[in-house]
Amino acid sequence: MGAHLTYDLIVIGAGPGGYVCAIRAAQLGMKAAVVEKRKTLGGTCLNIGCIPSKALLYASEMFEEAGHGLGALGVVVAPPKLDLGSMMKHKDDTVAANVNGVAFLFKKNKIDWVTGEGWIAAPGKVVVKGEDGNEKILEAKAIVIATGSDVARLPGVEIDEKTVVSSTGALSLPEVPKKLIVVGAGVIGLELGSVWRRLGAEVTVVEFLDRILPGMDGEVAKQFQRMLEKQGFAFHLAHKLAKVEKAGGGLKATIEPATGGDAKTVDADVVLVAIGRRAYTENLGLEALGVAMDRGMVVVDKHFATNVPGVYAIGDVIRGPLLAHKAEDEGVALAEILAGQAGHVNYDAIPSVVYTSPEIAAVGKTEDDLKADGVAYKVGKFPFTANGRARAMRHTEGFVKILADTATDRVLGAHIVGFGAGEMIHEAVVLMEFGGSAEDLARTCHAHPTMSEAMKEAALAVDKRAIHV
Ligand SMILES: Cc1cc2nc3c(=O)[nH]c(=O)nc-3n(C[C@H](O)[C@H](O)[C@H](O)COP(=O)(O)OP(=O)(O)OC[C@H]3O[C@@H](n4cnc5c(N)ncnc54)[C@H](O)[C@@H]3O)c2cc1C
Repeated sequence: MGAHLTYDLIVIGAGPGGYVCAIRAAQLGMKAAVVEKRKTLGGTCLNIGCIPSKALLYASEMFEEAGHGLGALGVVVAPPKLDLGSMMKHKDDTVAANVNGVAFLFKKNKIDWVTGEGWIAAPGKVVVKGEDGNEKILEAKAIVIATGSDVARLPGVEIDEKTVVSSTGALSLPEVPKKLIVVGAGVIGLELGSVWRRLGAEVTVVEFLDRILPGMDGEVAKQFQRMLEKQGFAFHLAHKLAKVEKAGGGLKATIEPATGGDAKTVDADVVLVAIGRRAYTENLGLEALGVAMDRGMVVVDKHFATNVPGVYAIGDVIRGPLLAHKAEDEGVALAEILAGQAGHVNYDAIPSVVYTSPEIAAVGKTEDDLKADGVAYKVGKFPFTANGRARAMRHTEGFVKILADTATDRVLGAHIVGFGAGEMIHEAVVLMEFGGSAEDLARTCHAHPTMSEAMKEAALAVDKRAIHV
């Protein structure tokens, strides 16, 4: 055993939840340490999640534009040639810049980065085992579990990260598969499926439910499915993957209707298993400590405290959407609570974005949610086909939909399918954070010509007074 080191706060896991919590704690005068078993900081998000996927999504979108979209604008390019090695280098450089950025922020905020696998030996005490097998003991009043999540696996389907891959393998394929099966029509499956389809793969999506993007607005999902089909995606909805076998040089996947019936086989070079993620709590000593768990997740109260005094949890390892910004906001809120301030996360106003083309973005309630809750609501919709800027950029696919309470006009949800949706959604987030109404949004001046004018028009449409449709 090495020396004992004492802190105000020890965070286990350097993902967006953990590293942001440590930075905010340091800003508030606490001495913080972050334990991370990976060689770099930034967790799933920066290393094998949000950042590398967005680097490939952007690069592959440029490849597709160069091949198809630019001619209509009068920009004639020779058929583009894919240099996958350079595209992967762009992704790797982007990851490196981001993870190194977090290391710089740790230095700036005098946060100790402790490399190794940490576990909680007792309240107030974390043991860290380094790669060399040496152990360090860290002590602190508060310990934060921010160990995130891991890929959910399908029973009987072994992920080798070569031909049967998780999102991690799908971010580093050495060549473009001719045929790719994506199992799971959630955000990660559709984003990574989009990357490889743009680069030339024939993509077939197998989804257990009878719809894509579970949890998103039903109308958005239906329209988006049509857009993906136009792009060349094939869907087997209400189907499940039964098995994957090696056949010839490739793979043969057997899929079955979810409710029983005849199986079919689909050939592929690569199968991507993207059926979701599960909280990662292995080898943390939680059972011995008596930390309450629910379906694999750490149970916390609204101040992120577990049932064991001095032990807290944030991010993917607790309830709520598996999103980096949700984890970050929880990290900030917890650091502030520990400093005696009133840290808080508004779970009703957490945006979610699907970074496909077009993008999808949403915040708040869907129509299905409001129907289930028995809330009377009004709908205002505006299509991008009626937006001047969208026409000028040939990005007329999609629409904005605003849902407002019938009685109070308060905006309860916003849903966007369209180019730049992930940026536009934030005006609805700010509006909802301040309890704003459709009228507030409708009376807010929007620059012309912008895609965002569709937000204003959809808000006007809530009271049937949109100008441009
Ligand atoms: C392909 C992909 C794309 C994604 N895209 C987006 C996106 O665009 N937007 C978005 O909001 N979210 C996205 N996500 C989800 C996002 O990555 C997660 O929600 C986010 O990373 C959760 O943050 P976290 O801090 O809770 O945990 P994580 O980022 O998972 O970090 C946890 C860290 O804890 C470490 N750890 C675990 N156990 C120990 C231990 N015992 N000792 C030491 N260290 C330990 C792990 O090594 C890891 O680095 C994506 C995820 C994937 C897989």
